[in-house]
Amino acid sequence: MTEMPRRVAVVGSGPAGFYAAGALLAADPPAEVDMIERLPTPWGLVRLGVAPDHENIKAVSRAFERIAQRPGFRFFGNIELGRDLTNADLVRLYDAVIYSVGAQTDRRLGIPGEDLPGSWAATEFVAWYNGHPDFQELEFDLSGERAVVIGNGNVAIDVARMLALTAEELAPTDTTEKAERAILESGIRDIVMLGRRGPAQASFTPPELQELGELVGADVVVDPAELELDAASEAALEQDRERARRNVEILREFAAREPTAKSKTLRLRFKVSPVAILGDERVEAVEVVKNVLEAGLDGQIRAVATDEREVIPCGVVFRSVGYTGVALPDLPFDERRGTLPNQGGRVLDERGEPIPGLYCAGWIKRGPSGVIGTNKKDATETVELVLEDAEAGLLVRDREAGNLEDLLVERGVDFVAYGGWEAINGLERKRGEPVGRPRIKLCTWEELLAAGRS
Ligand code: NAP
Repeated sequence: MTEMPRRVAVVGSGPAGFYAAGALLAADPPAEVDMIERLPTPWGLVRLGVAPDHENIKAVSRAFERIAQRPGFRFFGNIELGRDLTNADLVRLYDAVIYSVGAQTDRRLGIPGEDLPGSWAATEFVAWYNGHPDFQELEFDLSGERAVVIGNGNVAIDVARMLALTAEELAPTDTTEKAERAILESGIRDIVMLGRRGPAQASFTPPELQELGELVGADVVVDPAELELDAASEAALEQDRERARRNVEILREFAAREPTAKSKTLRLRFKVSPVAILGDERVEAVEVVKNVLEAGLDGQIRAVATDEREVIPCGVVFRSVGYTGVALPDLPFDERRGTLPNQGGRVLDERGEPIPGLYCAGWIKRGPSGVIGTNKKDATETVELVLEDAEAGLLVRDREAGNLEDLLVERGVDFVAYGGWEAINGLERKRGEPVGRPRIKLCTWEELLAAGRS
C-alpha cells in the first residue's frame, strides 16, 4: 500500500507561512499544504506592511507565487479561526498545523495621552496607506506642521519617509489613492523621529537609514551633539556588529550636512523618551525627558531619565515601538513574549511539553524581529521538526475526517481559493498598468470578495 501524503495546514500566509509551505512541498516525500488566511489576499506584510516605495523588497512575492504553483498547494482565504474553523478542526483534518500568523498588534507606550485623537499606532498608518481592508475607514488629520514618530526601528523610518515623499516619489508606487492624496496635501513640514537610546543602539538598518538622506523633498537633520557617544557605546561599537557602526557613520554624515531648503525636514533625535502626549481634545504636543545611557550588569545599554524635559509641539503622533502577537483561540499563549510558547517551533503546553501536531513559525514563534529573509531559516527549522516528528510516528490524523474544502462548503463558508486571489492580483495589476504603477489595490472587503469570486 502506498503511503498517503502528509497533509499540513499552514495558518497565515505571510513570509513565514510561505517559507514553511515551500519547505513542506519540497520535502521527500512532498507534503500537501493547505494555507489558511483571514484576508482574501495572501503575502501578509509583504502586501500590507512593506512600504509601497520599496517595490524591490516586495519582489519576494515572486518566490511565493512559485511556491503556490507547486502540486499539493491550496489556498483558503477569507477564513477566520474561531469563526469559520477551530484549532480542533485543523488537528482532526491534518497531520500537523503550523501557525504563522505574525504579530498582529502594536506595543503600547503606557504613557498619559496615548489614546488622544491624533495619536496613532504606526501599524494603523502602515495598514492604511497599504490598502488593508480593515483600516480604510481611518481618517488621518495631517494638517498640523509637525509629525512626531516615536521609535527607532525600520517601521518608524518607513512612516517618517512616507510622510516626506513627493508626488514624483509616490507616483510609481501602489500607495492607496486616498493615502497619496493625504500625504501630498498634508501641512506637515517637520517630521521628528524620537529614539530613546543613542545612535549606536538604534534598531533600524543602514540601507533604510541611508535612504532618508536621499529624499527629493526633505532635508535630513541630525544634531551632532546628540551623536556624541558615551564610553559604553564607544566600547560596544569597537567590538560591534556592522549595523551599529554603519548607522553611526551615516548619522555623522547627515549631521555634517547643510540644509538645502527642501520643503520638508526630517529630524532624527536621540536619547529622548516620551513621557506624555499632551492636548485637550486632540494631540498638541509630546513631552519628552532627556536620557543618559548606562550599561547594565547584563551588558545592555539602557536609557536612564534625567530631570530635563522638553515639550515638542505637533499635530500628529505615530507610535512605532514594535509589534506584539495576539493570543489565538484555544491555544496557549506566552503573554510576556507575545508569542505561542514554543521550542524551536514545537508549540508547548502549560507544563512545557510539546503538543503533538502543533507548530509555529515567524513572528508568532520568535517575536517581531528580523527581515523577511529571516523567516526562511525560521520556517525551515520548524518544518524540520514537523518532518522529524512525522518520521517518529508522533503525528496522527483522523484518516476518516475528510477534507477542509468539503467542511467549508458544508458550513457555508465563502472562501477565496488561489484562483480567486489570482483574479484579484490580475485585476489590480491591470488597473495599475496604464498609470505606471505595479498595481492599484482593491481595498475594501466587498471589492476583494467580488473579484475573488469572479
Ligand atoms: P523594532 O526594530 O523592534 O524597533 C522598535 C523601536 O522602538 C526600538 O528603537 C525601541 O528602542 C523603540 N522602543 C520600544 N519601546 C519604547 C518606548 N517605551 N519608548 C521609546 N521607544 C521605544 O521594531 P519595528 O520598527 O516595529 O520593526 C519590526 C521588525 O520589522 C524589525 O525587525 C525591522 O527590522 C523589520 N522591518 C524591516 C523593514 C525593512 O527591512 N525595510 C521595514 C520595516 C520593518 P529600544 O531599542 O531602546 O528598545
